[in-house]
Amino acid sequence: VKLLEVKNLQKHFKIGKKQVLKAVDGISFDIYKGETLGLVGESGCGKSTAGRTINRLYAATSGQVIYNGEDTQVKKSMKDTKEINKKIQMIFQDPYSSLDPRMTVMEIISEGISNYSPHMGKKEKLTKVHDLLELVGLNKNHANRYPHEFSGGQRQRIGIARALAVEPEFIIADEPIAALDVSIQAQIVNLLKELQLDKKLTYLFIAHDLSMVKHISDRIAVMYMGNLVELADSGELYSEPLHPYTQALLSAIPLPNPEIERSRERIILTGDIPDPINPPSGCRFRTRCPVAMDVCAKVVPEWQEVKQDHFVACHLYR
Ligand code: SF4
Ligand code: MG
Repeated sequence: VKLLEVKNLQKHFKIGKKQVLKAVDGISFDIYKGETLGLVGESGCGKSTAGRTINRLYAATSGQVIYNGEDTQVKKSMKDTKEINKKIQMIFQDPYSSLDPRMTVMEIISEGISNYSPHMGKKEKLTKVHDLLELVGLNKNHANRYPHEFSGGQRQRIGIARALAVEPEFIIADEPIAALDVSIQAQIVNLLKELQLDKKLTYLFIAHDLSMVKHISDRIAVMYMGNLVELADSGELYSEPLHPYTQALLSAIPLPNPEIERSRERIILTGDIPDPINPPSGCRFRTRCPVAMDVCAKVVPEWQEVKQDHFVACHLYR
C-alpha cells in the first residue's frame, strides 16, 4: 500500500536576482507503508531539500506530495494541517543543534505532546516521557537533564524519542547517523529498525553514502544534482547497480567479506564536479561519468523502469 507518492517534485531557490538553484528538479517515487526507502547522494545533491519539501518545511516549486491519498500541498483546515504535521516527523543529522540547550529532556520530548494533546494531564505526560526514554534505550533519570550532558548517540536517542512522542506514522530521518562514531551508528540503525517493527513506522532514510543504508533500507534511491538516477530493491541495487554513479558510490564502500563478494574495482570519479547553478546539458552526471557518450551531452536521459521495480535514468539502458 502506498503511503506517500512524490510526483515530479521540484524545489528551486532563487540565488540573487537572476540565478536559480534547482536543488530538487523533478523527482518521482512512492513509499510503501512499513518500508524504509533510503535516499542516497553526495552532499549538495538535494536530498535534504527533498526531505524538507516532502515534510512541507519548504513549499514545493511544483509537483505533488500525496500522503495517504491526499495532496499535502492543497490548502487545508487548521485541524487537518495539524493532523498531517503530527503524522510526519523528522529526525535530524545533528542531534545537538536540533535540541534546545536550555530545555530539559522532559521539556524537549513533551513539547510535541502538549501541542497535539493539550488535554493530557501532567502525570500522564510524565509517564509517557519516561516510557519513551526507556523505549529508546535511556531511562527516566535522564528526564531532568540537559542535552549537553549526553553523548552524541544519546542525544540522537532523545531526538528519536521527541519524534515518537506524537505517535507519527512516517519519519524522515535526515542523515541521522552521519555525525556519530561508526560503532554508535549501528546501534542507532538497530534502534530505528526495532521501533519500526514495534510501531509500524515508515521511513525515508537519507544518507550520503551506501555503507549503512543497506542495513535499514528495503529499497534505495540514488540522487545526483537534483535528479534521481536509480531506484531499486536494496539487494538488487547492491548486486546489480545499473547507473555509473551508483556503481562508483558502491565501489567506494569497503567490503566486509572481500573473498566471497564478487570483486569490485574501485571506480574513482575524476571529472569536474559541475556548478549546481549551471548544470551540464543532457545527463548531469556526464562530466564525471567514465562511460559518457556523445548523446549524453545532448539528451536528458529519461527516468524509466528497465526491469520490474528497477528504475534508472541513463542512456546505456535505452
Ligand atoms: Fe553516463 Fe551517459 Fe549514462 Fe549519464 S546517460 S550516466 S553520461 S552513460
Ligand atoms: Mg544534508
